[in-house]
Amino acid sequence: MMRKKICSSCRHQNANESAFCTQCGAKLFSKNKPSSQLRILEGESTGSIYVINKSNNTIGRHSSNTIVIRDKQISTKHAEINFIEGRYWINDLNSKNGVIVNGREISGKACLFDGSLIKLGTSIIRFENQRTVKVKIND
Ligand SMILES: [Zn+2]
Repeated sequence: MMRKKICSSCRHQNANESAFCTQCGAKLFSKNKPSSQLRILEGESTGSIYVINKSNNTIGRHSSNTIVIRDKQISTKHAEINFIEGRYWINDLNSKNGVIVNGREISGKACLFDGSLIKLGTSIIRFENQRTVKVKIND
């Protein structure tokens, strides 16, 4: 039996391995896996989108990280985002320039919600959770 992912925006049936709807470009969801994304709003990588689909994700400048962001003010291993019991947490990994969430520097970890703004180095990053994210292709 062929499994399909049904788009929540236009109801188009997509192949199960698709990440985005081929009809309308909306992000397709998978229920039991973490699925959210980071969108760079400002900084060297403005416009880039990083999909979070693992439970443990490290963010940093070095290529060994799950999410590599090119920004000279970001540490080689800067922070991590962990998916724990349905919630996303960001954790500062003793970075040089800190982790700022919604204008506040965090000490240790902080919970992320859809729309949370994360500042790492000179980059401003929006955390977008799957349940409410709608990606438009014709912006
Ligand atoms: Zn669609």
